[in-house]
Amino acid sequence: MKTVYNFSAGPAVLPSSVLEKVQHELLDYEGTGMSVMELSHRSAPFQQIIDQAEALLRELLSIPENYHVLFMQGGASLQFSMVPLNLLGSDETAEYIVTGSWSGKAVKEADKVGEIRKHTPDAQTAIPSYTAKDFSGNSRYVHITSNNTIEGTRFAEYPDTGDIPLVADMSSHILSEKLDVSKFGLIYAGAQKNLGPSGVTVAIIREDLVGDAPDYCPALLNYETYVKHGSLFNTPPTFSIYVLKLVLEWVKEYGGVEGMEERNQEKAHLLYSYIDQSGLFQNHVTEANRSLMNIPFTANNDEVNARFLKEAKQAGFEFLKGHRSVGGMRASLYNAMPIEGVKALVEFMKNFEQNEVKEDQHAFN
Ligand SMILES: *Cc1c(COP(=O)(O)O)cnc(C)c1O
Repeated sequence: MKTVYNFSAGPAVLPSSVLEKVQHELLDYEGTGMSVMELSHRSAPFQQIIDQAEALLRELLSIPENYHVLFMQGGASLQFSMVPLNLLGSDETAEYIVTGSWSGKAVKEADKVGEIRKHTPDAQTAIPSYTAKDFSGNSRYVHITSNNTIEGTRFAEYPDTGDIPLVADMSSHILSEKLDVSKFGLIYAGAQKNLGPSGVTVAIIREDLVGDAPDYCPALLNYETYVKHGSLFNTPPTFSIYVLKLVLEWVKEYGGVEGMEERNQEKAHLLYSYIDQSGLFQNHVTEANRSLMNIPFTANNDEVNARFLKEAKQAGFEFLKGHRSVGGMRASLYNAMPIEGVKALVEFMKNFEQNEVKEDQHAFN
């Protein structure tokens, strides 16, 4: 088998031990004689899988008792609609901090539901801090994208919103570092970056925010439906939830969120510190707001970027192309990216840079 390092922003690398376990259990899940894919979502073995997934997430994030954990479909993008549909009336206001293109998409959906007040930082390379004074006391919630997958930024500190519930799209960094869930009213995340395969979306929602959706809200877009039916109102993405459970077991085995954070700091530091002293590559994000998960960088021009990407791919470094809206390169270093992958990438970048310098000197002579 070809060995590669997968730096994709999502769907993203999964721990190889998880994939091996999936393979091992694929035809016969725990003596049932069937694959997980073939099990009824009302069966005891599947109930156990979803219960364990919830229990593990609660344990790993120390989720307080007064929060529900929900498993849904539709990706983080459907949450862009579900959040306002559940929490915002047509004559009410919510505030959105727009730190990148995903927040922009969230605003677009919320605008269809109620009044939106936008906070847009001057640059997409830094995120200012916000205090309760920045928000109107009447607002139903404040929405943030806590890690900006495309721009490579994250909040250095979360906004202080006073009594207004803070809602966060954590799709690209949930479980990557310690988190105080009690600071949030609602957290949501598509699974395909740090939690598992695509197809399942997790929400962690405070009890008091459930149950006030308007009557016209479709059942499947109402958080209350998922609460009442233990995320089993209709058929959930069973296989994705099963793999997510295995990923959570892997996170627990490797030191939990603290273990992840320690390794993520180390991995990100390796790449940023090389980029910062490089004469060829650059990252423009303010240090305090640098994402640990998504690291965009560019060389000095498009032609060199293209050559870098081509040679990197040949050497087994996959999906390093930056998002089409920003160009250049992006390395996503999610939990499952081994440190060896980052070390190998930095080595490759160093060699590439040295060859560039040699060629320049050659051209000059
Ligand atoms: C990937 C991503 C999304 C979109 O997720 P889908 O599951 O494709 O809808 C939304 N927000 C953030 C921050 C993301 O990284």
